[in-house]
Amino acid sequence: MNCEIIAVGSELLTPHRQDTNSLYLTARLNELGVAVIFKTIVGDRRAHLTQSVKIALERSDIVVTMGGLGPTEDDLTRQAVADALDIRLRRNPEIVGALYARFAARRAQMTENNARQADVLDGSIILDNGRGTAPGQLLDTVYAGHRKLVILLPGPPSELKAMFDAQCVERLREVLPKRVIAQRTLKAAMIGESQADARIAPIYSAYRDVETTVLAHAGDITLNLSCSKATLEQAQARVDELAGKLEEELDEFVYSSQGEMLEQIVLDYLGMRGATLAVAESCTGGLIAERLTGISGSSRCFLGGAVVYSNELKTLLAGVPPTMLEDYGAVSREVARALAEGIRRKTSAGIGLGVTGIAGPGGGTEEKPVGLVYAAISDGKQTDVVERRFGGDREQIRRLASQQGLDLVRRRLM
Ligand code: AMP
Ligand code: MG
Repeated sequence: MNCEIIAVGSELLTPHRQDTNSLYLTARLNELGVAVIFKTIVGDRRAHLTQSVKIALERSDIVVTMGGLGPTEDDLTRQAVADALDIRLRRNPEIVGALYARFAARRAQMTENNARQADVLDGSIILDNGRGTAPGQLLDTVYAGHRKLVILLPGPPSELKAMFDAQCVERLREVLPKRVIAQRTLKAAMIGESQADARIAPIYSAYRDVETTVLAHAGDITLNLSCSKATLEQAQARVDELAGKLEEELDEFVYSSQGEMLEQIVLDYLGMRGATLAVAESCTGGLIAERLTGISGSSRCFLGGAVVYSNELKTLLAGVPPTMLEDYGAVSREVARALAEGIRRKTSAGIGLGVTGIAGPGGGTEEKPVGLVYAAISDGKQTDVVERRFGGDREQIRRLASQQGLDLVRRRLM
C-alpha cells in the first residue's frame, strides 16, 4: 500500500515555516511497510485543498492530511475532504459537549466557531485529541471504485504524533497486508556524486525491490537502501545483498555500512589500533577538532591540536620553519607536511594531521586558486600529502578540507 501526505497551511508555503510533520509520519508509515509516494503542501484555500485531496485520492491508497482542523476561518480541511469525497459533514453533539466541558474546566467561554471542530465526515472514526481541541478523523471509504483510507490529523507536531501513534498505527496494521521494511545506510568519503553514481547505478537499478537514494554533501555520500517484504529476513537479505555489491564496487571509498559518521569511524580505528591523533589546522580553523570532539569518548584517542592561521603560529605551535613559509608559501605541499610532522612531534601523538588551503572567496591567485587544499598525515615513519582543488563557497571548501583530513587518517588506519 502507498500513501500521500498533504501538509495543510499557508505558513508552510512561506520561507518561515517548514513541514516537519511529514518526516515523522513517513518514518512511522515506512515501519508499517507503507511507502510514501507523494507529499503535497497546500495553503489554506478551500478550492486548492479540495483539488489536492482529489488528486491524492486518485493516485494513492492512503491519504493523510495534517493541519487545518482548528476552529478558525482558515481551518478548512474537514470541508475540503468532504467536498473531494462528495460526502456530508455532520456536527457531532458528543464532541460539541466535550468542547464545552473543556472550556468550562478552564473557566473560559467557548466561542461558537469552536463547534466547527465537531464536524465529522459521515462514517469516520473520531480520533481523540488529548493535547488540543481539534479531534482527528479516520475514514475507510471507497473512491472511484477503490478502497481508500483517509486520515485527518491536527497540525501541531505534538498533537499529531500522539494521535497517530496511539490511534492510527494499530488501526492501520489491521488493514494493511503484513509488510516489514529493512534499511541500511552505506557511507563513502571523497568520491564525487556523479562518479559514484556512474559506478553504482547499474547495480542498484537492477534491484527494483530495493529503494535506493543517494545523498551527497561536501565529500560525503550517503546511500540509503530500503526494502519492504512480508518478513524481516526476506527484506534484510535483499538489502544486505545489494549493500555488499555496492560496497565492493565503491571499495575503499566506503567507510561505513551502518550509517556512522566519518569522525566516528576515525575514532573507532584509532581506538582499535591504540593510536592517538593531533591536528594542526589552518584553513579549517578547528573544524576537524570540532568534528572529532563532537563524538563522546573522543578524548581517549584525540589529543587535541592547534589552529595556526598566522605564519608565526605555524612556526611557534607546529614547528614549521620560517624559511619554508617564505620559500613555498603557507599553502603548499611542504608546509602541509611540516604541519603534520611538527604537531606530531610537539604533542607526542602517534599520528599528526596538517591541513592548509585557500577557503576564499578572497586570497586566490592563478597559481594558487581558491579551493586549493593540502592535507598531510604523518606517523613518524612516513608522511603523505594530498593536493586537492575543491569547488564551492568558503563553508563548503572548509567542510571538504576537514573531510579530506579525516579521510586521510581513516585510510592510513584501514
Ligand atoms: P493547524 O492545525 O493548521 O492550525 O496548525 C497548527 C500549528 O501546527 C501551526 O503553528 C503550524 O505551523 C503547525 N504545523 C502545521 N502543519 C505542520 C507541519 N506539516 N509541520 C510542522 N508544523 C506544522
Ligand atoms: Mg493551519
